[in-house]
Amino acid sequence: MAKILIYSAKDTLALELLSAARLIAGETGAEIVALTINDDDQGRILANVGAHVYRVNAPDLVMADVAAVADVIAQGVQQLGAGVVLLSSDRRGKELAGSVAQFIEAGCITDISAIQVNNGRIECQRNALGGATVATQYIEGDKQVLAIAPKAFPAASGEGGSISELQITVKPSGIKVRETKTKDSDSVNIEEAAVIVAAGQGLRSKEDLAMVEALARSLGGVIACSKPVATDKKWLPEDRVIGLSGKQCKPDLALLFGISGQVQFTVGIRDAKTIVAVNTDENATINQMADYILTADMHEVIPELNRLLG
Ligand SMILES: Cc1cc2nc3c(=O)[nH]c(=O)nc-3n(C[C@H](O)[C@H](O)[C@H](O)COP(=O)(O)OP(=O)(O)OC[C@H]3O[C@@H](n4cnc5c(N)ncnc54)[C@H](O)[C@@H]3O)c2cc1C
Repeated sequence: MAKILIYSAKDTLALELLSAARLIAGETGAEIVALTINDDDQGRILANVGAHVYRVNAPDLVMADVAAVADVIAQGVQQLGAGVVLLSSDRRGKELAGSVAQFIEAGCITDISAIQVNNGRIECQRNALGGATVATQYIEGDKQVLAIAPKAFPAASGEGGSISELQITVKPSGIKVRETKTKDSDSVNIEEAAVIVAAGQGLRSKEDLAMVEALARSLGGVIACSKPVATDKKWLPEDRVIGLSGKQCKPDLALLFGISGQVQFTVGIRDAKTIVAVNTDENATINQMADYILTADMHEVIPELNRLLG
């Protein structure tokens, strides 16, 4: 089988891709190569856990130019003789996946939550029908671009890797970066949080978010929400939304307050290890997936929890 090439700009996701690649390689015997682009630190991190890293140093490459980065990856695929490309299914990774697939004329699957290999065929699981079901999909043909959801695989460990240089040609970019702004200091990635405290439309007012935030802080977690809380009420930014059009989260603990449990929401939280649902409606759909259910008013429960934890 042709080689498996992995690439993610994020170290944690690149380590997860390495685990996914090892699963495939274990069944197919394919060789794994890791690409890093303008990131020597990542090269060392991956090599330290046993990856054979090909490092691209291209100071002229505009990293914000998805097509240009995809072109670099495509050149890596060609030079290294790779067939399967594993990318991360975060926002940037998904953008890259389509472009890389186009460049190397491959099939492409994104949002992959699990992989199994049957007779050399890489079968990928991903949500389908608005999250109501999980579909198993595979690509026929040797050229495949697979974008894997964060946390679908554990970070790889190991030793005995190597680092080599890869020479590529950077095509002139039509994009000029005029200014770079760092994200707000309170910006967090809820996908990576171990504890999530989420509020839904059961929350009475924006002011009541303070008590939810205080609880999240006490538990060392982050605050998140259902979609309407962000998009309709605009009480929280959209990067806090859990679900189909938000983030796929896999925390150890999820406390869900005033959330009904529509499938478009639950698809983003069903992989949490422990789910606690607090809802005034004893028949709320969310109760069907919760490990612990409290039929109560969140405006009474949260202050009481804050009092006990404070
Ligand atoms: C294409 C598409 C994509 C979507 N993507 C997403 C997505 O990514 N994420 C998402 O969340 N939604 C998404 N939605 C919307 C989704 O279908 C639901 O409308 C949404 O999840 C409902 O949010 P909610 O549970 O907060 O509100 P509601 O459904 O209104 O539920 C509020 C709940 O709060 C309870 N409650 C009321 N008062 C209290 C109280 N005082 N204490 C405790 N409980 C109380 C109620 O009993 C109720 O169960 C999407 C919809 C579509 C069509």
